[in-house]
Amino acid sequence: MSPPERSISRITGEDTGATAKGTTIRAAAACYDSVVRRLCLPSPNLVGLTRLELEDLALDLGQPRYRGRQLYHGLYRRLLQNPDEFTTIDRAMRREIAGRYEIAYPVVSRGITSRDRSIRYLLGLADGQAVEAVYMPWRAERRDGRTVATPSGRELRSGNADTVTAGAGSKHGPAAESEEPRTTLCISSQVGCAVGCAFCFTGLLGARRNLSPGEIVGQVLTIARERGLWGGKGSESRGAGKSSPRVNIVFMGQGEPMLNLRAVMTAVSILADTEACAIPLRRITISTAGIVPPIYDLAREAVRPKLAISLNASNDEQRDELMPINRKYPLRLLMDACRAYPLRPRERLTFEYVMLNGVNDSGADAIRVAQLLEGLPSRVNLIPYNGGAALSYRPSPMARVNAFQQTLRDRNVPAFIRISRGQDIMAACGQLSLDGVEATA
Ligand code: SAH
Ligand code: SF4
Repeated sequence: MSPPERSISRITGEDTGATAKGTTIRAAAACYDSVVRRLCLPSPNLVGLTRLELEDLALDLGQPRYRGRQLYHGLYRRLLQNPDEFTTIDRAMRREIAGRYEIAYPVVSRGITSRDRSIRYLLGLADGQAVEAVYMPWRAERRDGRTVATPSGRELRSGNADTVTAGAGSKHGPAAESEEPRTTLCISSQVGCAVGCAFCFTGLLGARRNLSPGEIVGQVLTIARERGLWGGKGSESRGAGKSSPRVNIVFMGQGEPMLNLRAVMTAVSILADTEACAIPLRRITISTAGIVPPIYDLAREAVRPKLAISLNASNDEQRDELMPINRKYPLRLLMDACRAYPLRPRERLTFEYVMLNGVNDSGADAIRVAQLLEGLPSRVNLIPYNGGAALSYRPSPMARVNAFQQTLRDRNVPAFIRISRGQDIMAACGQLSLDGVEATA
């Protein structure tokens, strides 16, 4: 990659002859260029650049390629924010970096802690927009001879042993292999969302804009630094994958990841790279409302995170009503894309199903969902609806959620009830509208 800003002489193809006049013109142009750049243009941000881009950047600065790799390591593994801290890089290059670039994370403008210790962050972006991301700590706990993931706070506990972390979930549920604490970060892919699902607070915001790879990775880096998830002393050899707690990432904050797939996949490549954040792909989940063509695009990617589909309805009539995208990509097309999706050994597609009282939660709905998923390696996460005054839906009674789960299980569809974290601060996924707190009032 070339650095985005170029000297005027390079842009205009100015004469490179060694005449005194030429030298003076070039010096004046460079000086003018640097003044204009400093006054008018923000310095380009290194956060969000891939390994290859940073290697190219090192070459452009007249440095060997491996210097780019050192930058990459410092940015994403050690979470360095000050060029002076990149001690593996020589002083002259550090100075050049400090003069030309910035290392900028989204800025925490608000952090609200829930009773269950999840934290909802409002993160300010360079253009004055803001997105939200949620930190959810979990702890593995033994219950009735089984290990289950529970919120790490004492106050909010579900009575149901078959609860799962948001979006995570192997065949055996999230907490089957280890008793280490773990953390789920729910992050955003867009500011607002264009899809406009009838039950979703983010949908009320409408489409604002796509996030860049740097703004997506930046949400993770901000929280990792805030919560000490990795980085800091001794971080040379440890990324998120090797640190404790283990980190899961779910794209279930604001926005529809499939409508910003390029940026999301660039961010995923950095999050998953063992030389960067080192979060294994099996712990990164992209959730989609069911935009069909990009599901086929994702299927062709060599580096693929896990996929979750927000199903939320058992037939087209219901889904048309709840998720307008269904009118363009009805269930038949969506399920065809799901069946064509290449799964790794033991991998399953996750289907999210928000339980809406009297809308999609009947016994007949559960049977239709089981029929839709027949023969497909899948699991269903039943999500208790998180309501608010701004929307008229109500959560299904717990007895109906349990019955729905049982009906699915009786038909050999693994089904789990997802603990909603941070309900007291409107931080549950789908509720990340900027004025979400007011929406409950
Ligand atoms: N746009 C993507 C990802 C963000 S929404 C998608 O729709 O999948 C993440 C999840 O939150 C989705 O499964 C969605 O169905 C769910 N959701 C939205 N609003 C909700 C609400 N009010 N209560 C509970 N879950 C909700
Ligand atoms: Fe957008 Fe997902 Fe909310 Fe639908 S549920 S409006 S796709 S964020």
